[in-house]
Amino acid sequence: MRGSLRAGERVLLVDNKRRRHLVTLAAGAKFHTHAGIVEHDQVIGQADGASVRTGAGARYVALRPTLAEVILEMPRGAQVIYPKDLAAIGMLADIYPGARVLEAGVGSGALSMALLRAGAQVVGYEIRPDFAARAEKNVAALAGSGLIGSSPAAYRVEERDAYEGIGEFDLDRVILDLPEPWRVVGHAEVALRPGGILLAYLPSITQVSQLREALSISGFAMAETLEVLQRTWHIEGRSVRPDHRMVAHTGFLTHARLLADHQGEQGCGSAGDGDRTNSHPEPR
Ligand code: SAH
Repeated sequence: MRGSLRAGERVLLVDNKRRRHLVTLAAGAKFHTHAGIVEHDQVIGQADGASVRTGAGARYVALRPTLAEVILEMPRGAQVIYPKDLAAIGMLADIYPGARVLEAGVGSGALSMALLRAGAQVVGYEIRPDFAARAEKNVAALAGSGLIGSSPAAYRVEERDAYEGIGEFDLDRVILDLPEPWRVVGHAEVALRPGGILLAYLPSITQVSQLREALSISGFAMAETLEVLQRTWHIEGRSVRPDHRMVAHTGFLTHARLLADHQGEQGCGSAGDGDRTNSHPEPR
C-alpha cells in the first residue's frame, strides 16, 4: 500500500529503543505510552515513516508494517514459523504465482501468509478448529490491508487431519508443519503432480530422520535437509562485531521432489511412537 497513513490501517509505532507497537489507526483514538500519549490524529494523513511526538516530547516513528513484522506481532494460537525460515521455504519449495499448494497444519497462519504473498493458491488443513478460525481471521485482516495482494478465493482452510489423507489432486506443492510428516508422504505422492515438491519444517532432528527414511522408500527423490542460521551484527562506531545473542535454533527444512514413475502409496509410514511433539522452541 502506498500514500499517506489512513484511519483503519495498522501501523507500527517504533520508539528510540526500537520497541515496536502495532496499532490500528482510528480517528480520535489515543496510544498511551510510558512517555506520554500519541494521538492517532497526529499519525493519520502522515507519510509512511513520519515521526510524531508524545505530549512529553518522546519521538515515535510511524511505519506500515512489513509482512515479517505483522507475523511477529499478530495474535497467535500456535507458534509461527520465523520469517528467516518463511523466506527460505519460498525458494526451496519454489512457490510461484498460481501454484496449487496444500499446507498442513495451518497454526496461526504465518506460513499461509508467506505462501499467499508469493501468489500461491492455498488449501490449509488444520486439526484444531480454534486454530483454523484464528488463521482465517489473521489472513483476512492481512488481505484487507493489502499486504498479501491475493483474493480471498486463493485461501481455504479445512478442519481435517492430514494423516488421514489429502482430498486434493494435481497439487504443485505440499508444505508440512506438523509433528509426524512421514505419515503424509504416501498421501502427498498421490495428491502431487509429477515434479511436485514436498517440504517439511521440523524442530527436532529425530523427526527429520524418520521423515527422511519415509522419503527414501517413496517416489520422492533429491531430498535435502538444511537449517537457516541468521546472525545479526552490532555496528556502532568502531565496535563492529556479531551480536552476542542470536536465535540458535528454530527448525530444520527438508524438501524433496516427486518423480514421474513412482508406484503410489508406498512409503506412507505408519503411526508414530506417540511421544514426538511439534513443540517449537521460543522464539520461532
Ligand atoms: N506453520 C504454522 C504453525 C503450525 S503449528 C504457522 O506458521 O503459523 C502446527 C499445527 O499443526 C498446529 O496448529 C496443530 O494443531 C496442527 N496439526 C497437528 N497435527 C495435525 C494433523 N494431523 N492434521 C492437521 N493439522 C495438524
